Amino acid sequence: PFDVLVIGGGPAGAAAAIYAARKGIRTGIAAERFGGQVLDTMGIENFISVSHTEGPKLASALEAHVKEYDVDVMNLQRAKRLVPASTPGGLIGVELENGATLSARSVILSTGARWRQMNVPGEDEYRNHGVAYCPHCDGPLYKGKRVAVIGGGNSGVEAAIDLAGIVAHVTLIEFDTQLRADAVLQRKLNSLPNVAVVTSALTTRVDGDGEKVTGLRYRDRTTEEEHEVILDGIFVQIGLVPNTEWLSDSVALSARGEIEVDARGATLVPGVFAAGDATTVPYKQIVIAMGEGSKAALSAFDYLIRQEPV
Ligand code: FAD
Repeated sequence: PFDVLVIGGGPAGAAAAIYAARKGIRTGIAAERFGGQVLDTMGIENFISVSHTEGPKLASALEAHVKEYDVDVMNLQRAKRLVPASTPGGLIGVELENGATLSARSVILSTGARWRQMNVPGEDEYRNHGVAYCPHCDGPLYKGKRVAVIGGGNSGVEAAIDLAGIVAHVTLIEFDTQLRADAVLQRKLNSLPNVAVVTSALTTRVDGDGEKVTGLRYRDRTTEEEHEVILDGIFVQIGLVPNTEWLSDSVALSARGEIEVDARGATLVPGVFAAGDATTVPYKQIVIAMGEGSKAALSAFDYLIRQEPV
């Protein structure tokens, strides 16, 4: 069995594996796709101390760093069930989609999350070329330009307020008849001179010139009329979904499906820790995921040295 088994190979999982391996304990990492969301990212400009890098480059650096240590890397492996230990300090099982079961004295869950997509023509084609999901990451790229935010929940309205301070103009598009964000955020939004809010609007397509986004179309759900908005960027803020469906019967999840962790990254299941976008820790970012992964590994080590020798 492993001393520490990490599930998920994004920034959180890679950091956890390195921190665990550096303690000289038996470490494994199983991931469906090593690199995680970083693989889908183009420019990264907020990875502190590296002024610019690209997703695939950072993803291969993560893997190379992990492989410098004695870590059992199991790529292209999807976990389907976590089986908590039957006795205190006992072995925890992780069943994989391929039928195998891995066992470990401690487990770190770092299966990340995925952005909910609009699923309209042009969205895939122009992802990273005008279609963006993270205002903290890509906002500054649209300085002085016109953008739209799709979604009028808290994250959409927060994004619109944030972007309004950077870009020339923001159009916020909400499907429902009214915004769903907290009233204080809506008041702040309404006070901004360079934001327009469109409700009862269904985004129907992303337009582009073959290289980058040039606009979007939406249908007014009350009049059925089609409208066109000319812009340079579209921030999709209709939900971030944690990859935790497989954990619903084993660990405590928040109403949004995030793994509940304490300040040390511990779940309520003894020996099971979690880190990164899959957890309740706020702000889903690479540096945060790496910090949380490192912390979870140190917590797992602390847990292991407190177990009675068998
Ligand atoms: P992830 O990166 O999501 O990794 C999850 C890992 O778990 C993957 O290896 C996945 O294959 C694996 N996995 C999932 N389910 C299972 C399973 N059942 N079994 C086994 N493995 C599983 N952040 C920034 O800081 N700066 C940026 O510029 C930036 N730009 C972004 C651009 C885009 C387009 C996107 C999508 C995100 C961006 N982010 C950015 C956010 C950043 O990528 C995430 O915060 C970060 O990757 C989270 O790391 P993580 O390790 O928690 O999860």
